[in-house]
Amino acid sequence: MAPMHTTALVLFSGGQDSTTCLAHALARYERVETVAFDYGQRHHIELDARLNVLREIGQQFPAWGAKLGEDHLLDLAVLGSVSDTSLTRDTAFKMEASGLPNTFVPGRNLLFLTLAAALAYRRGLQVLVTGVCETDYSGYPDCRDDTMKAMQIALSLGMDQRFLIETPLMWIDKAQTWAMARDLGQKSGVPQGGQALVDLIVEHTHTCYLGDRAHRHAWGYGCGSCPACELRAKGYAGFSANLNKAALPAA
Ligand code: ZN
Repeated sequence: MAPMHTTALVLFSGGQDSTTCLAHALARYERVETVAFDYGQRHHIELDARLNVLREIGQQFPAWGAKLGEDHLLDLAVLGSVSDTSLTRDTAFKMEASGLPNTFVPGRNLLFLTLAAALAYRRGLQVLVTGVCETDYSGYPDCRDDTMKAMQIALSLGMDQRFLIETPLMWIDKAQTWAMARDLGQKSGVPQGGQALVDLIVEHTHTCYLGDRAHRHAWGYGCGSCPACELRAKGYAGFSANLNKAALPAA
């Protein structure tokens, strides 16, 4: 039998998905550290959001907070020199003919995982947790399940240490991601923890491509019309509708 995994490194950007992954890791592992990559994003809002989320989780979920270890921010400015996208330059966000948004940096996620594994090796962490998902972002080839499996093998061989790449969101949609957060919060031992975690994600995580924190919706802050906002809004609406359905007495 494989040895039990007890420690994890979460690729944590401060968005809805990676915050749900963080809760997943905190519910499951004894020690959890976090990592993010700074590659000159136009909006430092994301990087601020992650610190706010870490603080709130520590305050609202003390048992989880006790497991939270170091937070790492790795400078990846070099990505700016191999990309020409609206995330790193002042060009407008648009969809390319390939069906991928022009924010796409080829193979970016491979680089993230490689650096995360190197960090995990140094920190003695066994599991890499990432919020990649085929359901909503099937256009990103570096987020696919097969890519993750190949990376797990490549990293384990290349560093001569067995890494597990965990992708809790791989096969679920955004509505189910909200439901997963609620479920994790509910089982956290904190009274009303399910709603508390959903509220925390709504208020403190950031998803909008345009970095809009001026407009508050039921699902959180954002411009409301970029693809990331649309996805988040649609997911939240689906989640809320399911909750209301469940709350109705059985006929
Ligand atoms: Zn937006």
